[in-house]
Amino acid sequence: MHPHTDVGVLGATGVVGQQFVRRLAAHPWFRLRWVSASERSEGKRYRDVVSWRWPSPIPPAVADLIVAGTSAPAGAPRVLFSALDAAVAGDVEAAAARAGHVVISNARNHRMAPDVPLLVPEINPSHTALIDTQRRARAWPGAIVTNPNCSTAILDLALAPLRAFGLELVTVTTMQALSGAGYPGVPSLEILGNVIPFIAGEEPKVETETPKILGSFDGSCVVDHPVVVSAQTTRVPVANGHTVLVSVRLTERPSVAAVRDAMARFAGADPVAGLPSAPAAPLVCFDDDNRPQPALDAGLGDGMTVAVGRVRACPVLGFKFVALGDNTVRGAAGAAILNAELLAVEGRLA
Ligand code: NAP
Repeated sequence: MHPHTDVGVLGATGVVGQQFVRRLAAHPWFRLRWVSASERSEGKRYRDVVSWRWPSPIPPAVADLIVAGTSAPAGAPRVLFSALDAAVAGDVEAAAARAGHVVISNARNHRMAPDVPLLVPEINPSHTALIDTQRRARAWPGAIVTNPNCSTAILDLALAPLRAFGLELVTVTTMQALSGAGYPGVPSLEILGNVIPFIAGEEPKVETETPKILGSFDGSCVVDHPVVVSAQTTRVPVANGHTVLVSVRLTERPSVAAVRDAMARFAGADPVAGLPSAPAAPLVCFDDDNRPQPALDAGLGDGMTVAVGRVRACPVLGFKFVALGDNTVRGAAGAAILNAELLAVEGRLA
């Protein structure tokens, strides 16, 4: 029996914050005791300020919590998940780590710092040791651990098994859902019946985060995987679930069937199996040309499984495929909670 750990959520009223609230309500190890949001919400009951976007009611243990201010997490539990807007996340998360909190963040601000783990537990669990480097470098008692950009998380789970063939080049075009833009997000008149060919800041995240995530930990820092990624990111009128269209060049020349099998067999790194949020399979491969689809497949593995389909030859780079995942779960709150579970079993939350 794992002991319960009290946790809080910074930015608990947004799209990702609500996903945290939902998933933590039923968590076997973590108890959600504290929520924060902007000054607009501070001092009020959670139920009175949140635009709750789920058919099930707000979990009763959270509905009447008084929303704290984010800039002063006084009285907050040691373990804080962050679903803060990036405009404020950088300073708030650093201040919290300095004050002794372990911050498990979705925001982009600290992801690429060399001493901050950018974790996907199935791919790079050894990167948690960067926390020791971070504490030495920054002389703070807390820590910051991050999960990837939502499209990057989905893409990289599909790419991870291909490292064995020598993953060299990747081109990816994303079709990103509206839930990825936060609440209230993109105006309906801009997106209905339309595709928006630009998402500010998104392409550099996919291109720079991937080599770090797929990289190896050498005892003190992460050595990037030598892969070059070119990303085009678009917003489409889909409610939830990001689809990515991917071509890859590999050093080796495996058959299409071998590439498909490597993805289908991918089980993830050892420490992950058995963690409460780990799906039975981090990747599933469809053979039906009509799958995956966001309306049908984003919820696989309770949102934690990435679905791959249409693995085939690419006349330009060698291989191409489609991947799909739940951006608010595998790309955000579910990923962060899985990170926290890994830190818990490593004794790094105490
Ligand atoms: P969101 O719906 O806009 O929610 C933002 C949250 O931050 C709200 O709780 C908001 O509180 C709070 N906030 C905003 N301004 C603040 C301020 N000045 N001071 C303190 N709190 C403030 O955004 P989201 O989609 O949930 O995204 C949250 C974070 O996760 C972002 O960094 C985003 O880039 C990242 N992320 C999102 C996704 C996704 O699929 N949506 C995926 C991966 C990563 P109020 O309600 O009081 O305004």
